[in-house]
Amino acid sequence: MSEKTLHVITRNCPQNHRCPAVSACPVECLKQEGYAAPTVDNDACISCGKCTRVCPMGALILS
Ligand code: SF4
Ligand code: SF4
Repeated sequence: MSEKTLHVITRNCPQNHRCPAVSACPVECLKQEGYAAPTVDNDACISCGKCTRVCPMGALILS
């Protein structure tokens, strides 16, 4: 598989705010319950990288 996978690095996310990456995702594959770290539907993710540029904590990584 050549396409990169979006990984949520939960330990890097302080889990104390609304995740701005949720609304930045063009295919709405990031979800957040309360202030928890977001979760990703990797089947729907198109590996565009937009969420990785929104997260200031390095909690959303494409690799
Ligand atoms: S890489 Fe793109 S498609 Fe995948 S979760 Fe991030 S914003 Fe959404
Ligand atoms: S932007 Fe990053 S640090 Fe903030 S909630 Fe989202 S994943 Fe966590």
